[in-house]
Amino acid sequence: MTELTKLTLDGALAGMAAGDFSSEEITKAHIDACMEAADLNAFITTTFELALDQAKASDARRAKGEVGKLEGAPLAVKDLFCTEGVKTTAGSKILGDFKPTYESSVTANMKADGMVMLGKLNLDEFAMGSSNETSAFGNVVNPWKVDAELVPGGSSGGSAAAVAADICLGATATDTGGSIRQPASFTGTVGIKPTYGRCSRWGIVAFASSLDQAGPIAKTVKDSAILLDSMAGYDPKDSTSLNVENGNWVGACEKSVKGMRIGIPKEYTIDGMPGEIQSLWDQGIDWMKDAGAEIVPISLPHTKYALPAYYIVAPAEASSNLARYDGMRYGDRVQGEDLVDTYERTRAAGFGAEVQRRIMIGTYVLSAGYYDAYYLRAQKVRTRIAEDFKNAWESCDAILTPTAPSAPFAIGRKVDDPVTMYLNDIFTVTTNLAGLPGISVPAGLDASGLPLGLQVIGKALDEETIFSVAGALEKAAGFTAKPEKWWS
Ligand code: GLN
Repeated sequence: MTELTKLTLDGALAGMAAGDFSSEEITKAHIDACMEAADLNAFITTTFELALDQAKASDARRAKGEVGKLEGAPLAVKDLFCTEGVKTTAGSKILGDFKPTYESSVTANMKADGMVMLGKLNLDEFAMGSSNETSAFGNVVNPWKVDAELVPGGSSGGSAAAVAADICLGATATDTGGSIRQPASFTGTVGIKPTYGRCSRWGIVAFASSLDQAGPIAKTVKDSAILLDSMAGYDPKDSTSLNVENGNWVGACEKSVKGMRIGIPKEYTIDGMPGEIQSLWDQGIDWMKDAGAEIVPISLPHTKYALPAYYIVAPAEASSNLARYDGMRYGDRVQGEDLVDTYERTRAAGFGAEVQRRIMIGTYVLSAGYYDAYYLRAQKVRTRIAEDFKNAWESCDAILTPTAPSAPFAIGRKVDDPVTMYLNDIFTVTTNLAGLPGISVPAGLDASGLPLGLQVIGKALDEETIFSVAGALEKAAGFTAKPEKWWS
């Protein structure tokens, strides 16, 4: 029998359906793999006993003919999703031993579809970061390695590392400015951020509510479609949830891109981008032409303002969302001399440096006198960026860009230089600002053998098209490289 941890989610579901192995068997194989991979620090909390109980229950359901979309598949959950009775940290000390009494809508959907949950995955604190180095539970190590140990990207670094290391079949993640797609690019995995409103945000710890979206990180494009189909759906508990049907996403992965118009935005060629990333992008363009697509040069003129606007809007919303962590309503309290002193001590002890920086920036840009100069202007830029895309859709059906401006970098290299760190998100924040879907597909390796991704951006609610383009890219790239297993 093939090693069970090497299977794709699709392959595992088919294997269980054919009776080749049980959920209990494949779950046990993944638990062993998780234990061997402890050095990657991908998990904050493991729930192996719970997983075995869920696997047995799944096998019993299958025996009765009850088979959900994810039936019996061992998966893992970013520790930003509230899970009933299971510690949820958001990568922060301030949540203490928070054990939610409720389940996020996304993970509830997955449980109802038969998910087996191996545990809660590490992330940047409150999903603020691009390298997983801001987690209060230590950094995650990228399974891909050259000489030095590398970051897995962030904020969904635990999700991406766990999928790349074959210790779970797929994982949930969230993306506020690139946190699904950039770690996917850094680990040779697939990650999709759907249209804003596709996945309910209910029960996901909020970072920047108008930008946050959940989505999967997976081994293949088809696996990401299977996962998204379970995660997405209307939820009356989230007022921004869209009351629309899922598309035929799994089917779309196989659909030809013949005749499709693929836009190439000239503004995404930036100074200082490694030549290898430009060549991979050019290669992607050729693959699309070979597959029968038409290549259309386009312009997204406000792109250069996207990153500055994002780093005003996201901290502004974060400063407001994080006000609730005051030692009264949530988390570990540090008692002070009076109420204000207690707030200050609690927040100084509970939040890490990056979160404190964002709260300060956010509070500043929302304060009287600066609101108009910063926040309001950033919102105007956001409208312009959305208009850029609207204009682009007149001449193309999807847009192809690199996912990130670099390959994974060494742990510690950028952590003390926030501005350099923020540049990681240059190609990904635009879709969050405009609410559009974007997917990252592993497309090649750089000269030192590290993975690089290409991004496909689509129209609002048109995930089908980007699944088709991503499927075609995946096929053309034939990316089969895996990190060498050094961790056990
Ligand atoms: N890296 C970006 C940030 O630090 C995006 C994070 C995210 O998408 N959650 O804000």
